[in-house]
Amino acid sequence: MSESQSITRYPHIINGEKREPGSGKYIPVFNPATNELIAEAAQGTPEDLDIAVHAAREAFNCKAWCNMPATERSRLLYAIANTVMANAQELAQLEVSASGGTISRVMGMDIPALADMFMVLAEEVKRFPFVDNLPARPLPEPTHTQVWREPVGVCALITAWNVPLLLFALKVAPALATGNTVVIKPSELTPTSTLRLVELLCELLPKGVLNVVNGRGEVIGDAMCRHPDIDKISFTGSTRVGKQVQQVAAQSLKRVSVELGGKGPGIVLPDADLELVAYGALYGVYLNGGQACESGTRLLVHDSIHDELVAKLAALSTQIVLGDPASPATGMGPMSSAAHGEKVLEYVNSAVEEGATVLCGGARAEVPGCEGGYFVEPTVLTEVHNGMKVAREEIFGPVLCVIKFSTEEEAIAIANDTDYGLSAGIWTADVVGAQQLARQLQAGSIWINDWHMIRMDAPFGGFKQSGYGREGGMESLHHYVEVKSVSTAFERNVRKKPLHRLVHKLLA
Ligand code: NDP
Repeated sequence: MSESQSITRYPHIINGEKREPGSGKYIPVFNPATNELIAEAAQGTPEDLDIAVHAAREAFNCKAWCNMPATERSRLLYAIANTVMANAQELAQLEVSASGGTISRVMGMDIPALADMFMVLAEEVKRFPFVDNLPARPLPEPTHTQVWREPVGVCALITAWNVPLLLFALKVAPALATGNTVVIKPSELTPTSTLRLVELLCELLPKGVLNVVNGRGEVIGDAMCRHPDIDKISFTGSTRVGKQVQQVAAQSLKRVSVELGGKGPGIVLPDADLELVAYGALYGVYLNGGQACESGTRLLVHDSIHDELVAKLAALSTQIVLGDPASPATGMGPMSSAAHGEKVLEYVNSAVEEGATVLCGGARAEVPGCEGGYFVEPTVLTEVHNGMKVAREEIFGPVLCVIKFSTEEEAIAIANDTDYGLSAGIWTADVVGAQQLARQLQAGSIWINDWHMIRMDAPFGGFKQSGYGREGGMESLHHYVEVKSVSTAFERNVRKKPLHRLVHKLLA
């Protein structure tokens, strides 16, 4: 059997059915830990997208879907969560083999969060104010106004390669909970878990409600932003492409939300428990090999504890187990590709050229059994200042930049001196003082004495160039509805309508 015959082929899923790409072509999907071909996924065309949008529009126009009572929709969301958990092993294996995320993280964090997102919204949807009554106004004539929140329509959801299932949850759950229909485009690098999950969920959902079109970002993603019959774009990815998405979608004034990059600062105050900081800050930057938007990549450390803390960071970094992401013992897997790994090490070299010191790591690591993968050693850079390229740009790798400060004011200024504003943290024994500092930090999520404290019932999203819009919890539902005011006048005698006199000559 040839290699291409032995691997799974994933067509699009449109209108509840598998559909071959119009191009007849498939994009290879590789395992980043080994560089082996593991699957092939449809190479979509704008015509494929058209077919999917048409199916989504038809499903939206069928009022049974968008007018479904909240209690019924809630049951459906619970059923989706159950399907996720019933297929957890298979989904996790697909996620690990294409993205290089470790099996322990995917099974311990991503899959439960995916199910949880649907369960959270199964509850929230019953409380969501689909209809609000404003106070009745008796004067100048009796009227009543309601505020209705209705689904936006056909939503195009574009996700990044790093954590596809989590991103699926954050976008698809609120879109469906509010009665929209969906066409999702996963990254062409890691599409398999999304394609399989949509196939599973199509057994629960009416035809056309959830569709997936795979393909290149600059073809399918771009066509989504231009498509006249798509009402909303929700995008997760780089700030560079996010700006492009916003620009292109502005031509038809589509609703847009964008979740972009980050450069998370963690401020370590002199009273912090340094053992806790060392473990926590490294968890903050090494989870998923640093390939996470909310990673804590800048550690701002008070002068008085700097040397003691960096000694602990170096000692702990060398204990991180690099390995095959499919092994439960592995703490950190590969970079997404060799090209990306090279880019990470170029950042390290640039830091050295600008005067930083490599405290530990800073090189490619060899992992037996995964010779085809590109692994980067857990890396801590000291003597970094905030003007260096490594402190300003998103590296998306396992590289922690340690920056010294002397006063809290200085720490806040450094933390906020960035184009990004996704996550920030404070390490201290004084949690009351931390609340006051949290007020001054410009970021969508502030974590005190830990990192990655993402809850599916809490809003998550960015300030500044980390994007706008929020995902997670009740807040996310507001980004998938249009707001309509519906006012009723009770007075039917034209002579008793005082405002009509502004135009008409009416007798009293
Ligand atoms: P990219 O911006 O390269 O891609 C994101 C998605 O956009 C992919 O599906 C991609 O498709 C698609 N795309 C590419 N070009 C276009 C285009 N012209 N129009 C529309 N869509 C397009 O990001 P990465 O996939 O490299 O992901 C890493 C980035 O995502 C990091 O910056 C990270 O911080 C950010 N991120 C943010 C999160 C958040 O919640 N704030 C969460 C996770 C990641 P394809 O891959 O097929 O080219």
